Amino acid sequence: MNTVNLITKKADKKELTREEIEFLVSFYMSGNMPDYQMSSLLMAIKLNGMTKEETVNYTRALLESGETIDLHEDWVDKHSTGGVGDKTTIALMPILAAMGVNSFKISGRGLGHTGGTVDKLESIKGLDIELDIDKAIEQTNTIGLSVTGQTPNLTPADKAIYALRDVSGTVASIPLIAASIMSKKIASGSKYILIDLKVGSGAFMKNIDEAKELGKVMKEIGESFGRKVFILFSRMEQPLGQYIGNGCEVYEAVKLVENRLDNDFTQLVKKIASEIYSEAKSVSIEEASNKFDEVIKNGEAKSKFVEWITNQGADVEYFNSRCYFRPEYRYVLRANMNGYIKMAGAEEFGKMLIELGAGRKVKEDKLDYQSGMKIEAKNNEEIELYAPMVTIYSSTEVSEDILQKITQLFVIEENPSDNEELIIDELRW
Ligand code: URA
Repeated sequence: MNTVNLITKKADKKELTREEIEFLVSFYMSGNMPDYQMSSLLMAIKLNGMTKEETVNYTRALLESGETIDLHEDWVDKHSTGGVGDKTTIALMPILAAMGVNSFKISGRGLGHTGGTVDKLESIKGLDIELDIDKAIEQTNTIGLSVTGQTPNLTPADKAIYALRDVSGTVASIPLIAASIMSKKIASGSKYILIDLKVGSGAFMKNIDEAKELGKVMKEIGESFGRKVFILFSRMEQPLGQYIGNGCEVYEAVKLVENRLDNDFTQLVKKIASEIYSEAKSVSIEEASNKFDEVIKNGEAKSKFVEWITNQGADVEYFNSRCYFRPEYRYVLRANMNGYIKMAGAEEFGKMLIELGAGRKVKEDKLDYQSGMKIEAKNNEEIELYAPMVTIYSSTEVSEDILQKITQLFVIEENPSDNEELIIDELRW
């Protein structure tokens, strides 16, 4: 096959066959196709899109570039497209395991202004987040859950092509994003895949129409590979929950697991757990949500949490004494009038977390796991003069300039705005 002819074919809006797509991906991975040709192909795809068949075939080519884990009929995988304050995995997985549903998850680090589960979990001393795949599989089989970082063995073509997309202006393409995410989910071998597709200023999908198109394509891909897929569209205008950072997000997740939390984060985790349990165990949503309440009330979810982190090497004494969230410095910023809170978009909070050391500016940056914020009052909450708006945490002194910038993320208005629902829409199993 001739590479230039195939690039031209796509640029001329013609459909590539399965063999042609497989050839292009494997030729690139063999090192024989230069980056400029692959970038040109990716740009043709970005501009002209892909048919459903092309997208499925492209996903298969990514999948077949590496190892795959055999399909586990009763396992669950949850993926979030990323946001600020999204610690869902950390609470959801032990709760699901306590409910009797096995889950297996490959998680990532923070990317840009969005945080990553691996960074958050690493705030617990000793916790090993680089399990080898066989150990992670065995752990899910024995205790019902495992979370590990990305491995180079699954979908290496996605890793290589994603790095190229990042520097060639070809990230924002629905078929390329859908295939990239779904190839990793399918390679991980779970039958049930729930995608929490974030929409809003703090997410990479800023508007619901685009998000719905992406969700539809992801569902089609998953179903073509025999998976059950649920797409949840949830709002990411303001950070999820109250705590944002690393150690403090683990703290908030633990509060939920211990039945000591009732906020938007609780609502999201309960919704996801109930949908998964109801489908996997063929029971009603009401029964599923009762089961959720039962395991967080009777201590089973908390026991599962401790069993999980112990299995992955955590220092349990360090965890129990909550050393992962003992910041040396705390600053409370207060309201300067009575009124209703209007926060800046979640992305702005993500950027300030990077300033505080909770996220990275460059890949080599070391994180301050103790740094972060507690948002004391979120959008539309009534606040009184001098009441706390936000508490800032850090291991080191925080400059006046940063404190000032964080204050500016909060505006107090005389009247509340319309309330926006957390869950926007869904595409069911
Ligand atoms: N996340 C991914 O894994 N791939 C994309 O293309 C975009 C977001």
